[in-house]
Order: sequence, then structure tokens, then C-alpha cells
Amino acid sequence: MDERRDPAPPADSRPPLIAANAKLTATQRTWDAYSGHVLRCTACRSIRDLDAEPCATAGQLHQAWEAAAEDARRQMLGVPARAANEGRPQA
Ligand SMILES: [Zn+2]
Repeated sequence: MDERRDPAPPADSRPPLIAANAKLTATQRTWDAYSGHVLRCTACRSIRDLDAEPCATAGQLHQAWEAAAEDARRQMLGVPARAANEGRPQA
């Protein structure tokens, strides 16, 4: 008596792999820069208090990620991109 076996899936039914040269979004790139810095920076790694301030570089990288994420959110919603000086104090 043969056991019932499901047919093997077609070879091309697997989800596509992400190509090694796939282009990352600005949000992904800026998060990668921030998280990579925090993992390598001795000052950032020594922070044990969640409310502690990161080093200046981490702060700038985090701001860049927040700006990229906000731009992506606006793009998804169809809201015009931020002006370069938006959100910054006026001189
Ligand atoms: Zn740091």
C-alpha cells in the first residue's frame, strides 16, 4: 500500500532570495549606520542606562535615521517631502 505523498513543489515556488546587490532604502541604510556604530563604539556600548544619552555621533546617526523614516512615511502617505530646514530652528 502506497502512502499518499503530496507532489513536490515546483522548483520555482520558493520565495525569491534578496540579491546581494539589492539596493537598500534610505531608512535601511541610515539604521544600518546607526546600529553598526552603536555596536562598535566603546562609548555607546558602555551605556547601561536606557535613558542615558548616546555619544554625539550616535545622536547624529539616529537623527538621520529618524529623518529618513519620516521621509519614507510621507512618501507612503503622498505628503510632500520636508524642506531641508524644516524642523530646525530659524536663524
Ligand atoms: Zn557612539
